[in-house]
Amino acid sequence: MRIVVASGKGGTGKTTIATSLALVAAEQEAVRLLDCDVEAPNAALFLHPEFNQRKEVGILLPVVDEMLCTHCGRCAEVCQFHAIAVIGKKTLIFPELCHGCGSCRLNCPEKAIHEQLDGMGVLESGLTSSGIAFAQGVMNVGEPMAVPIIRELKKWQSDANPAAAHLQLEQFQLEIRDAPPGASCPVVETLRGADFAILVTEPTPFGLHDLKQVVKICRELGIPAGVILNRDGIGDDAVEKYCAENELPILMRIPMERRFAEAIASGKTLVEAAPEFRASFRALLETIATRVTA
Ligand code: SF4
Ligand code: SF4
Repeated sequence: MRIVVASGKGGTGKTTIATSLALVAAEQEAVRLLDCDVEAPNAALFLHPEFNQRKEVGILLPVVDEMLCTHCGRCAEVCQFHAIAVIGKKTLIFPELCHGCGSCRLNCPEKAIHEQLDGMGVLESGLTSSGIAFAQGVMNVGEPMAVPIIRELKKWQSDANPAAAHLQLEQFQLEIRDAPPGASCPVVETLRGADFAILVTEPTPFGLHDLKQVVKICRELGIPAGVILNRDGIGDDAVEKYCAENELPILMRIPMERRFAEAIASGKTLVEAAPEFRASFRALLETIATRVTA
């Protein structure tokens, strides 16, 4: 089962939920946690994996051999992204537009194009003390595209977990993906292929606005979703009304309490700070499993 923890906006408690859910689940099953917030991954600060695997990721950029190129223009014709142009006796590549699709290389009649990895970031993985197979993507500063890193992270076969080294990706009983904030392409890529989405929000006008955006993505992708209300008790009841009108179950409520904020600020997970939530996370997993298999 693949669960994505997402929220339309940052700072709503997405990582708080993802890390505690993983800790509780790992007591009973093989769990893999992917931190897909590749611009600012922070789940490792709470789960403290011992990273022992690293892989550079990027896209394959075309490189033109000017000795072989006849400047026929075929590569520019096939590039859907206008990332290659032939101007007079020059064939120019625009790396910031290139998606690494390989069409230009495949269509070059002179075999004048080869490819070179353009590093966009790294994948890291390791085991946590609680047995979670943890992996994260870290995007290089200044990179414009997070999606290729998230895509690679999702399919990375990590054997960093010795206890689960025999498990292929599809054999993990539970995969939890901590999504990036927002509602743009990196969130769509994180959600793609998931069985269920937990949408974390807070009962405020901003929370509602951003929740609506991520609900729309889930509906377009056909992914069932439910809501966790964080900082319950602040704001108004507009989020609850929206959930009722749109048949979105409220799966859990976390009240606004100073002790939670202090614990999380000091690097503790929610279930470490408030063990009474263990039962709630266990029930949450059972509810989701029932909904996914129904
Ligand atoms: S298709 Fe090949 S030969 Fe033609 S312009 Fe492009 S790189 Fe040069
Ligand atoms: S790899 Fe694809 S996107 Fe990049 S220049 Fe070639 S055809 Fe265009």
